[in-house]
Amino acid sequence: MNKPVAHSNLGAIDAAHHLHPFSDMKKLNADGTRIIHRAEGVNIWDQNGKKYLDAFAGLWCVNVGYGRNEIAEAAYRQMQELPYYNTFFGTTTPPTTLLAQKIASHAGPTLNRVFFTNSGSEASDTWFRMARVYWKVLGHETKTQVIARKNAYHGSTVAGASLGGMQWMHEQGNLPIPGIHHIGQPYWYAEGGDLSPEEFGLKVARELEAKIDELGEENVAAFVAEPIQGAGGVIIPPETYWPEISRICKARNILLVSDEVICGFGRLGSWFGHQHYGYEPDLAPVAKGLSSGYLPIGGVIVSDRVADVMIGELGDFYHGYTYSGHPVCAAAALENIRIIEEEGLVERVRDDIGPYFTEAWRSLADHEMVGEAVNVGLMGAVQIAADKATRRRFEKPDDIGTLVRNQCVANGVILRATGDRMLASPPLVISRSEVDQTVETLRNALDWLK
Ligand code: PLP
Repeated sequence: MNKPVAHSNLGAIDAAHHLHPFSDMKKLNADGTRIIHRAEGVNIWDQNGKKYLDAFAGLWCVNVGYGRNEIAEAAYRQMQELPYYNTFFGTTTPPTTLLAQKIASHAGPTLNRVFFTNSGSEASDTWFRMARVYWKVLGHETKTQVIARKNAYHGSTVAGASLGGMQWMHEQGNLPIPGIHHIGQPYWYAEGGDLSPEEFGLKVARELEAKIDELGEENVAAFVAEPIQGAGGVIIPPETYWPEISRICKARNILLVSDEVICGFGRLGSWFGHQHYGYEPDLAPVAKGLSSGYLPIGGVIVSDRVADVMIGELGDFYHGYTYSGHPVCAAAALENIRIIEEEGLVERVRDDIGPYFTEAWRSLADHEMVGEAVNVGLMGAVQIAADKATRRRFEKPDDIGTLVRNQCVANGVILRATGDRMLASPPLVISRSEVDQTVETLRNALDWLK
């Protein structure tokens, strides 16, 4: 048996051997690294025994909360029964197939099939190829270009990061790859100018139509967007936005891809974000809440429109991952969805804790440092403002967000900062008093800032 490593050594070992994702490499050191040891409900504990309320659900993913032994037991049972088999070459395993059925049962009438991946990033690569293959099979060889949005996040693989609209990511690795184009995002607070949110929603949606005209409809395969842009800062679109996007995709015959990696599995008080906004995607990548992060699994939900062509006309699809539909991950995801169903967590977000969170979170709008406090379900953003009246922002938005975030963490609540926006995305099981604690801690941090 391996000798257990004394906890006091972990920081030094980590500094010596572990390169972290999305971390400032200069700051990886023994003292600065937070080591999370255990978790229960919405709480996590670090190496010093300090407790935090995780109002970010890990990384937008622990929807059912921590410490669910049922999921651990389902994974354990599956590992004993069949720890691994591939799903290539016409093979499957029971939990993989049952999970596909379960996802389809919640996704909507035209979304009946799932292609499994290990992550949201791989789901991005998967639908990207699928969309191009779809048009090629139909004889539209030139329909290959994909339109995405500035400031979007769709993952860290080469296709995922290219589809994402984050320039600082593009600068590392010469991205985006050819064939991907970015249009504006519906970020009214920062970019809406004198327009009303409704007017602005229509204006940015129509950038899609302009981009299709520029590229030529015969060259465009798909448009991708998150129902609510998450990592970009919880950018909640005005009500006019999605109906117009949906209309344009239909009228111009391009596939609509709804990236449900964050919005899926209850976060907005609906099973999927597209249901909240009332549009029907052709492809929908998922991950995160699919297993509540207990094990890595993702996938692409595929509409009948696309699946019928692939099944009817393609033959082999030369794409897949060794662990696509991994039986242990699928068993964990099935148990996770069973908990969401049995405890009515989607309904809880829609009718109970979501409305409670809405009232508490939006109460921050009266704070003098807050430009807007917005949310849908349990996904919220607070915009920090230099001047509330004119919507003027601080010159160094990242610094402001980091200051407030660090203050919240020091006071025991994990929130995320994207630039000058403070983001919350707590587990769907968060209690009312834990919502109060989250909002109070953020309010105190904003008081401290002014
Ligand atoms: N798509 C969206 C909307 C995401 O937020 C993320 C991750 O944050 C991804 C895709 C990539 O998922 P993963 O980190 O599992 O590869």
